[in-house]
Amino acid sequence: MQTFENFDLRRELKQRNRKVYGMIPIARKPDDSWISIPIVMAIGKEEGPVILAEACAHGDESEGTEGIIKTFNRLEPEKMAGTFVGVPALNLGAFAQMRRYCDYDFVPVDLNRSFPGNPKGSITLAVGDYYTENILKKADAVISMHGGGNYLYLEPVTLYQNYGDEISERSRAMAKAMGFDALWQNNVCVPENGILDEIAYSYGIPAITAEIGGQSTRIADRRKENIEKISDGMLNVLRLWDVIDETILAFDSQYHVEMEYLFINHGGICTPQKLGGERAKQGETLAIITNIFGEEVDRLIAPFDGIVIGYWAYTVCQPKSWVYMLGREVEV
Ligand SMILES: [Zn+2]
Repeated sequence: MQTFENFDLRRELKQRNRKVYGMIPIARKPDDSWISIPIVMAIGKEEGPVILAEACAHGDESEGTEGIIKTFNRLEPEKMAGTFVGVPALNLGAFAQMRRYCDYDFVPVDLNRSFPGNPKGSITLAVGDYYTENILKKADAVISMHGGGNYLYLEPVTLYQNYGDEISERSRAMAKAMGFDALWQNNVCVPENGILDEIAYSYGIPAITAEIGGQSTRIADRRKENIEKISDGMLNVLRLWDVIDETILAFDSQYHVEMEYLFINHGGICTPQKLGGERAKQGETLAIITNIFGEEVDRLIAPFDGIVIGYWAYTVCQPKSWVYMLGREVEV
């Protein structure tokens, strides 16, 4: 591990055929340790595209962290034409604190609603700005890893840009290569939302957001399965970009959805009735909310025929919060 003072990705890429990793220091903490951005680079022997993957913009969504580490370990630079750059935990403070947000900010900042960041903002905004300016803008494509975190469960699903242009086509090809069954179309780009893939698109960089799992899957065998899925997907995206000279894998089980977030009115104890990947008919019950005495206070009904992509996995849910992500299957 090394510390990258005055990190310059293009300068690093000039030294080919190596693996290198370390910390990019951003600012000191009161205990004199540093808030840093961890980075791993597998720099191919031959020049080629720079494929970036980042995880833990939300600190509790750590499947991507382990997926990036596994991908990095599997790569052989002498056989690569191009580079894999991984940021295993962009919001490293939040990752260490086991939370979505980072305690270093006076007011909580949602990093994946705050891109491109702000060098004059709070520390999380400054981390976002550094990442955007010095890493993202120098990449040819980006995989942004997310997941269910502490409270949600998410089926493997890859969000891609669907705006009918060349960048979108590339983004769709990346989403397919990622290999997750569900493909989620984003039909409207709103960079003001501060979400990384939409910001990347506005810079002309194809981007996908891949979501998988959640802490609720960790004690089951799903954890290992999820990490392998991520790593297999990243390697396949590298094949798509010819960074790895191997035949790209195609998947015939994939389907496309448009997503709807479904909200409840009252909080309480949430008991899911339909689990990830299950189909629900319009009118069927998705979740029952009961109060502290076991009485039903709310019930979430499927508003259309769909596939359960995500749901609230924690016992307690809050009033007026969304508890299900239901995918409406679309033909493309
Ligand atoms: Zn997330």
